[in-house]
Order: sequence, then structure tokens, then C-alpha cells
Amino acid sequence: MSEQTDVLVVGAGGGGAVLGLALAKRGIKSLVLEQAPGPPTGLRGEILQPNGQQVLDGLGLFSQLPTDVIKPVRYFHFYRAGGERLCTVDYSVLPPPYNRALVMLSNAVHHVILHALEARCPGGLRYGTRFKGLLREGKRVVGVVAERDGTSFTVSAKLVVGADGAFSKVRAALEIPTKLHCYSQGYLIAILENAEGIEDARYLVGRRTILGLFPASGGKAYLFYMIPAGSMEQVKASGIEALQAEWRRIDPALHKTFQSLVDWGQTAYMPTARVRAGTWVADGAVLIGDAAHAMNPHASQGRMQAMVDAVTLADVVATCLERGDYSASALAPFERLRRPQVTMLQQMADEQVLFWNTGNPLLAYLRNRVFKTLDRNRRLRYRVLAATAGLRSKPAFGLLDRLMAAGLLPDPQATQLPPEATASGAEV
Ligand SMILES: Cc1cc2nc3c(=O)[nH]c(=O)nc-3n(C[C@H](O)[C@H](O)[C@H](O)COP(=O)(O)OP(=O)(O)OC[C@H]3O[C@@H](n4cnc5c(N)ncnc54)[C@H](O)[C@@H]3O)c2cc1C
Repeated sequence: MSEQTDVLVVGAGGGGAVLGLALAKRGIKSLVLEQAPGPPTGLRGEILQPNGQQVLDGLGLFSQLPTDVIKPVRYFHFYRAGGERLCTVDYSVLPPPYNRALVMLSNAVHHVILHALEARCPGGLRYGTRFKGLLREGKRVVGVVAERDGTSFTVSAKLVVGADGAFSKVRAALEIPTKLHCYSQGYLIAILENAEGIEDARYLVGRRTILGLFPASGGKAYLFYMIPAGSMEQVKASGIEALQAEWRRIDPALHKTFQSLVDWGQTAYMPTARVRAGTWVADGAVLIGDAAHAMNPHASQGRMQAMVDAVTLADVVATCLERGDYSASALAPFERLRRPQVTMLQQMADEQVLFWNTGNPLLAYLRNRVFKTLDRNRRLRYRVLAATAGLRSKPAFGLLDRLMAAGLLPDPQATQLPPEATASGAEV
């Protein structure tokens, strides 16, 4: 069996599904292959940052999100584990209307995207279908070999997109040199009852300790708790009460919320990895999302960056289609447009890994000092927030800013928002 399409997308995750929809909106023929048997159902905490909100709005999906799955959050408070508040970040200073974070119920955004894709492009999304290998003519990729129900078939395509996640098989088949780093810490995620009724996000950092709590809709709360990679079974073996006691030590104020963990079914494990693919483009193929650039979740941008990749690539593909050219050089504008922000976010996330995940007292002292400076310094606080919100591509801090953040230099503009904030219509 052989089929033909213009763009073949491998993976209907955060990036692939958005790409399928963005292409369909432009009238570009595409086929999305997904190995899972249907839409995802597992637990995942999802924070929709301002840039992600913007992408959904641009696709006409924002208004379709059911209101009962969204919890807008304005303040993120950072605390020392078991102790004092270090810093508060206020999303309302960002340019409206995307001047808040949205905590979403698990998979809610993704289901809306998949539904829109299937409505717009009936038959254009195939579940239970696995990418097996690439078809080539010389060096050029001209399609894929896939498998469904144990039967192999081929699809020829002008462009193959690897949107198949951090451990991408498409990337491997393209033989793209890649640095894949698995971090030594992952996250236990839990969905709990928001028994204390928190309205703001809380982030507690201590010695090799990170505990995050986010209010969610329906009286729920998400919890993120850093644990050594691969230690979930050990955590489970120690029992729920031991875990609750540890959480109470870190955040004594949320005793009742922690009590609402009664079953391991309320939890999931989130591994963390970073991908640095040497190139994202080849003749007839391109990588997007985690396949190209997975990042540590400290950036809170993994899914957002996959979505931004998708809409950016859809524009580039439209030009390729007009010119009949899907070579690596015709696709290069995609990588040029996207690399700077992704690289900046990967670096920022890794700096946060170094200082936030640390057990080293000196690094922890510096981290807390920077948090306290940020709490007083409106300009630097805005810069970090704008980067996390996906609204800038340049690093949040230059060298002088770093010295100021560490409290080694005074900042004469500490009380002002930076010029880019006022130019973008942010609240002054
Ligand atoms: C538990 C959890 C919580 C997260 N929370 C957040 C968050 O709050 N905010 C955030 O921004 N990011 C978050 N992330 C990260 C975010 O989910 C990813 O960065 C994002 O989904 C990347 O999108 P992607 O399309 O590149 O990859 P994925 O979403 O991983 O999608 C890849 C898809 O490809 C499919 N696939 C893989 N191999 C094949 C194959 N051979 N054939 C066919 N299909 C294949 C997979 O089944 C999958 O559906 C979280 C991740 C996890 C695991």
C-alpha cells in the first residue's frame, strides 16, 4: 500500500498536532501519524504561558477552550523550603491580554487541538501508526515507511516532519548529530484537592528540594516534586505518609492539600531531558519541538516552543510549496527564526537547574540572594518573567545584570520596567 501527501508529520504531540492544524488552515495537504491508539489521557500538569496563549488565539482555538478547565494565575511566589518568602512574580505587568499564566487540566488543550485537526482535516490524523524509517532518493527524503496493525506501508511526501519527541526516531534516521542529556532529577506530579484554596502558584526551593504547587480549576491543585531520576518506585515503596510528611516539612501551610493524596493513581513521573540537535533541517525533512530541542521543565516552555515551532514552520512550508523547493536551504529560515529563543531558554533552564536543584550551600545562598534582589528589582524581575512567558529571545540578563542580581552592583533603574516592556504596552 502506498499513499501520497505534501507534508507527512510524525507525532501528534504538542508540536505535530498544531502543525497539522496550521497546515490545514493554509490548505496544505498533510498527514499526521501517531503511534498512540488515541488522544492522551495520562496526568500532566500544564501551564499555558503567554506565548502559548497567543499561538492558540492565532489558530482560533483560544475561545474553544472549555472555561471549566482553565485556572488563570497572576502571582508566582517563591519561598525558601520551610521558610520565608523570597520573591513574588506578577504576570499582570506583561502586555495584555496574555498577562497571566493559565493552569490547565491535564490534556485539555491538547484534546481541543486534536479535535480541531480532525474536524478540519478528516482522516488526516492516524492513530496507532508508527514511523519505521525514511524513504530516500539519493540524499533527499521523499517519504516514510510506517506500520499499522503489524502491516507496513509507505507514504511519499514532499516534506517529512519529525515531531516525535525527545527520543525521536526520525532524528536518528536522519543521522543528525545530537547531544541528548538526561538530567539526574525528574518530577513526581500529583493532582490533589486544593484544600487550603490557594489562588497563587507557590514554588519552594531548598537543599536538593523543589516543590511546586499550582491552583487548578474544579478545586484541584497540581503538585510538582523533584525526585532523583528513576526513583519513583522507591518513593512509592516508602509510602504516601512518608511523602506527605516530607511535603509538610517543605510547605507547612498546605497540610490539608497534601492529605488529599490517597492513591498513587493521582501521581505520575515526568522524566527530564535536553536535546541539542546539530541541525533541524535536511533535504526534504525537518525536526520540531522536543525532537529538535527538548529542554528542562524549569523553563516552563517545552510545549510552548513546540507550538511556536509549528506555526513558524507552517509559514516556511507555504513558501516552500510555492517555490517547489523543500531542500535544507529552503527550510533553513525556520531554524534561523527559532534557534535564538530555544537556545536562550535551554541555557536559562540549565542555569536554574544549577542553582535551584543544588545541594551546595554556596550556590543555594547565591540563589536565595538573587531571588531577594529580584523581589526588589522591577526591571530584572520583568526580564526573567518575559523570558519565561516566551516573550523574548535574548537572554534575560547581561553581565552587569548578573552582578546586580547577585547584589554585587547597585541598579539605578531597579524601580523601573525595562524599555521593551513599555514599548510592548505592558502596565507601567
Ligand atoms: C508529564 C509532563 C508534564 C509536562 N508539563 C509541561 C508544562 O507544564 N509546560 C510545558 O511547556 N511543557 C511541559 N512538558 C513538556 C512538553 O510536554 C513537551 O515539551 C512537548 O509536549 C513537546 O512537544 P512535541 O510535539 O515535540 O513532543 P511530544 O508532545 O512528546 O509528542 C511526540 C509524539 O510523537 C509520538 N511518537 C513518538 N515516536 C513515534 C513514532 N515512531 N511513530 C509515531 N508517533 C511517534 C508520541 O507518541 C507523541 O505523541 C511536560 C512533559 C511531561 C512528560
